[in-house]
Amino acid sequence: KMNKDITERISNENNLYKAIENEEFMLLFQPQMDLNTGKIIGFESLVRWNTPDKGVLAPYKFIPIAEETNLIIPLGEWIIEQTCIQNKKWHDMGFKLTSAVNISGKQFMQSDLMKIIKTTLKRTKLDPEYLELELTETILMDDVKKTVDILNEIKTMGVKISIDDFGTGYSSLSYLREFPIDTLKIDQSFISSMHNSKDADTAIANIVIDLGHKLGMKVIAEGVETQEQIELLKNYACDKIQGYIISEPVNEIEFNLLLDKKSE
Ligand code: C2E
Ligand code: CA
Ligand code: CA
Repeated sequence: KMNKDITERISNENNLYKAIENEEFMLLFQPQMDLNTGKIIGFESLVRWNTPDKGVLAPYKFIPIAEETNLIIPLGEWIIEQTCIQNKKWHDMGFKLTSAVNISGKQFMQSDLMKIIKTTLKRTKLDPEYLELELTETILMDDVKKTVDILNEIKTMGVKISIDDFGTGYSSLSYLREFPIDTLKIDQSFISSMHNSKDADTAIANIVIDLGHKLGMKVIAEGVETQEQIELLKNYACDKIQGYIISEPVNEIEFNLLLDKKSE
């Protein structure tokens, strides 16, 4: 099994170099819904690799390799650009959606990330306030001083920041207060085990929502799959949800159908 894993890995790594050139990557978009209005107000871009021989690969199969080989830099740039282009299209159709992109650790620490975002926003004509960067606690806590500087620069541009997978990393609450964060994204592991108000994870979700609100942030729950979870989250005044109950990540055409159904 180990041999097979290593062989697969090396072949993925070699192919990854050619994949950007060959335009084998694609983005899927997962809608985010406002819990108060029931409308779609944004989406998260999720990358897929459409390989010629192995079909469509999920991010865990290639993002770690892309990170190690630095290919995440050009790939990440492509993801930001495609997200802005797509969101601008929806804005021009009258849907003012917020677009969230996942930023990897290497990308975040890359010195010209700001420049890339700035020029991409300019070129694609997307208003900065409709771009949101998703960063994990691990990335934020890696070098706190540097993080504060980078986050402040991002905020100056008008771009939004959210903490992804909140509750699974090692956030220090005192830093949480110092970071200019717009949105807390409660990790799906807490949401998936929320069945009723007595579950321990329901209590955690409740507390995270309060924490976010008290710190002046919006809170989104991810991995929402059932109506019970929606009801509990509504009770705790969670702002937004994302998950299979609304839709799995879909392509542009399928997303347009969701917009027609849920946005008027
Ligand atoms: P993530 O950012 O936490 O993304 C959420 C993952 O949960 C996605 O998996 C999504 O398809 C899945 N998901 C959404 N709703 C539900 C639900 O209701 N139930 C369940 N069980 N799962 C749900 P995906 O697309 O395979 O992405 C996995 C991870 O790969 C992401 O986790 C993120 O860390 C990374 N990733 C994805 N796209 C990108 C990207 O463009 N750049 C970078 N750097 N990382 C990415
Ligand atoms: Ca994410
Ligand atoms: Ca997440």
